[in-house]
Amino acid sequence: MMLQNQYDIIIIGAGPAGLIAAIESYKSSEKILILEKMHNPALKLRISGKGRCNITNNAVLEDFISHFGKNGRFLKFAFANFFNTDLIKYFEKLGVQFKLERGERYFPKNDDAGEIAKALLNKVKLLNIPISTNSEVINITKLPDKKFTITINKNAKHIQKNAQRIQIKADKIVLATGGKSYPRTGSTGAGFKLASQLGHTITPISPSIVPIEIKGNAAKKLQGLSLKNVKAQVWCGNKKADERFGEMLFTDFGLSGPIILSLSKTVVKLVDDKEKVFISIDLKPALDHKMVERRIIREITEHSKQGFKHLLKKLLPGKLVSVFIKKLKISEEKQLNQINSEERRKLRMLLKEFQFEVAGYRSFNHAIVTSGGICIKEINPQTMESKLVKGLYFAGEIIDVDADTGGFNLQAAFSTGWVAGRS
Ligand SMILES: Cc1cc2nc3c(=O)[nH]c(=O)nc-3n(C[C@H](O)[C@H](O)[C@H](O)COP(=O)(O)OP(=O)(O)OC[C@H]3O[C@@H](n4cnc5c(N)ncnc54)[C@H](O)[C@@H]3O)c2cc1C
Repeated sequence: MMLQNQYDIIIIGAGPAGLIAAIESYKSSEKILILEKMHNPALKLRISGKGRCNITNNAVLEDFISHFGKNGRFLKFAFANFFNTDLIKYFEKLGVQFKLERGERYFPKNDDAGEIAKALLNKVKLLNIPISTNSEVINITKLPDKKFTITINKNAKHIQKNAQRIQIKADKIVLATGGKSYPRTGSTGAGFKLASQLGHTITPISPSIVPIEIKGNAAKKLQGLSLKNVKAQVWCGNKKADERFGEMLFTDFGLSGPIILSLSKTVVKLVDDKEKVFISIDLKPALDHKMVERRIIREITEHSKQGFKHLLKKLLPGKLVSVFIKKLKISEEKQLNQINSEERRKLRMLLKEFQFEVAGYRSFNHAIVTSGGICIKEINPQTMESKLVKGLYFAGEIIDVDADTGGFNLQAAFSTGWVAGRS
């Protein structure tokens, strides 16, 4: 498409935040343009929720905000004006139907994240808002005439002779370039540099909702094993830093799955602070130590002539049996009526506190969201406008707010985009 020299509003980034900002800023009298660096818009949105898009959560406002940690309060105004039920109605009007699943999570009825992207893009098209794709913004300056000059690398990824450097002007801009996670979807953290060049502070960024790497090869041996209904706790010295109940997964490098991803923010912070961190898994969270002891004794009494391996098979998923035998240093053939109280204690402790020392965390390439970003103190929460640069607005993951899994992050992207657009 041919770009003009001057626009009223330019939105940088065609993710969920940028697209809703464009729709909500639309006035027939104003010239709006969306600039997107990738060949296709909304790539991350299309793969969200494993391609099913967990668009939001049905939690009540206070609970919803608590999932964002201390910066959640910044979103109060945005959520008060455009919250979960508003978002669902918004997309229903655009023709998408939803279902509510376990954990109060909303998904499109047909399990297709692409439908959410398509609904937004159809609306953008209906309003005749142009999207210039393959258009990477590489510089933004504010001129004395109060307009922004935006430098674009057009077709940078295509045949070199087609690559063009273009400058266009805008009265207002919305920076909705996302975070730095999953860079192959286009969000490479470029927006942080653009904002910092305009004078903004960037709260240090780190991967969040990210798998955890474990020392040694214990996790690797259990690769592929998924555990349901377990409790995972993060320990630093004698202090429990966090805990979650639910499902987790062992991988070739360590731990992943819903509860580990939810704990990752705490783990990343402790690792960055150079702390020694352990993840302790309670394999029998419904039973306290006394109940586990009683269960072990019952099995021993009922199968007294069987070997130790038989007892472990009764208590554990198959893949864990050999790992437990090695850790407990008890022969798998030892007859159960020969198991003494110290061996029973060791088994009980391992069932309740199966520990892994954290080696680190995976990179931005594997992180669902980016923690950190544009400092919230420098953004007006009622308009999403910069407090430092008039006419500059922020929306979505570029802002220093992030939550755990459950649909919270997309709601934040849509709500901040909605407010930025309306402002
Ligand atoms: C695998 C995965 C699954 C996820 N699943 C869920 C889920 O189910 N529920 C949930 O709530 N959240 C989920 N998230 C998080 C959620 O997708 C993001 O928080 C959300 O997409 C952020 O929206 P955004 O518009 O701010 O940024 P993005 O979606 O990252 O969009 C930013 C856009 O800006 C463009 N851009 C970047 N730099 C430039 C530039 N210099 N010039 C021009 N364009 C640029 C990018 O190409 C991109 O299209 C998931 C994330 C991942 C990676």
